[in-house]
Amino acid sequence: MSKKRILLVEDDKLNSGVIKVFLSAEYEVDHAENGQIALELAEKNNYDLFLMDINLGRGLNGLDVAQNLKQQDKYKNAPIVAITAYAMESDKREFLQKGCTHYLSKPFFKKDILAIIAKALADQTA
Ligand SMILES: [Mg+2]
Repeated sequence: MSKKRILLVEDDKLNSGVIKVFLSAEYEVDHAENGQIALELAEKNNYDLFLMDINLGRGLNGLDVAQNLKQQDKYKNAPIVAITAYAMESDKREFLQKGCTHYLSKPFFKKDILAIIAKALADQTA
């Protein structure tokens, strides 16, 4: 079985490096460092899941990208896992209203991110 393909959208190089190491054994991971690159890669390729940092610095934020993806036929049912340090319940609700399907708060361990990805992929096919 071929590996599931994930697009990691994250502007922080240290974070993206760590996440790629966490996931490399189980998933094929591409990385976008801003929202514009994320949308270009999403159009060019087919991803099974998105890991979405919310604060991407200048330009589009993660919620802009999530909302754009949800309007596309090929991604309208795609799992989008928000990854953010904003740990408040009210933020979490906003993320889920704006296209994200799951939520993981920073900081997290390898087992946490592997668990939420497995759950998000399972929820999608359920
Ligand atoms: Mg960030």
